Amino acid sequence: MIIYLNGEFVPKEEAKVSVFDHGLLYGDGVFEGIRAYNGRVFRLGEHLDRLYDSAKTIDLNIGMSKEDMAEATLETLRRNELKDAYIRLVVTRGVGDLGLDPRKCDKPTIFIIATGWGAMYGDLYEKGLTAVTVSVRRNPADALPPNVKSLNYLNNILAKIEANYKGGDEAIFFDTNGYVAEGSGDNIFVVKNGTIFTPHTLNNLRGITRLVLLEIAGEMGIPVREQNLGYFDLYSADEVLVTGSAAEIAPVTKIDGRSIGSGRPGPVAAQLVAAFRTKTSEEGTEIYQ
Ligand code: PMP
Repeated sequence: MIIYLNGEFVPKEEAKVSVFDHGLLYGDGVFEGIRAYNGRVFRLGEHLDRLYDSAKTIDLNIGMSKEDMAEATLETLRRNELKDAYIRLVVTRGVGDLGLDPRKCDKPTIFIIATGWGAMYGDLYEKGLTAVTVSVRRNPADALPPNVKSLNYLNNILAKIEANYKGGDEAIFFDTNGYVAEGSGDNIFVVKNGTIFTPHTLNNLRGITRLVLLEIAGEMGIPVREQNLGYFDLYSADEVLVTGSAAEIAPVTKIDGRSIGSGRPGPVAAQLVAAFRTKTSEEGTEIYQ
């Protein structure tokens, strides 16, 4: 496996970062998780826009153009001879001292990993996921905006740990106002009487797959409403879905022990998944021109 690290392509064994890197010491940095399908990187431009916007928000100067970052991403895929892949793009504050002051970090650490990772939830796409609501709340936007895809994922990890103890495949976060926010690594949607509902994006990550789902719903004429949701909306839904670059579109058929709708993946999920498959196999930035 070949890794892009600070302008070079190196074998995995040589891809090492310092113990003084603030990405490691403080979770100070940003990242993206991207997929490539059928020789094309899906929504690369949107992922790079979000990476640079996240970096801007935490005052991290990536010091490399988006065009060069796109090329480094494509070249990492080429060096690993991948056509279908999961790509992890990471930019940390870089090496500093043991204090947290970012001014001590001269330049960011940038690395790109590309692997041939398949379906994240295995056979659960057919059966549906079991989700649990968790007591840990999503970071409030006035503390650490969930819109920043930062390396500080401890909030999400605490939710995941709680879900693991409760026997859930995925955690569902509420925000500090008691509204549904998102999953530990995906956005959430409720289908009720033919309409798709999803939370506004202040209490969650502005998922790129979320936007793709909204786009598909628009093309199919399925009405969509962005609004606050609570327990009631989850438990009484006809269908619940989660979306993410890693998770793709996954139906949730059980929440906190209650069956959702018929207890099996529903017809709206099936339609959306089929359209998503078509989109991902036909669109994207060509890796091998
Ligand atoms: N929310 C969180 C917390 C996530 O980590 C992710 C996936 N990285 C998402 C939502 C989904 O975002 P996307 O569709 O852009 O992958």
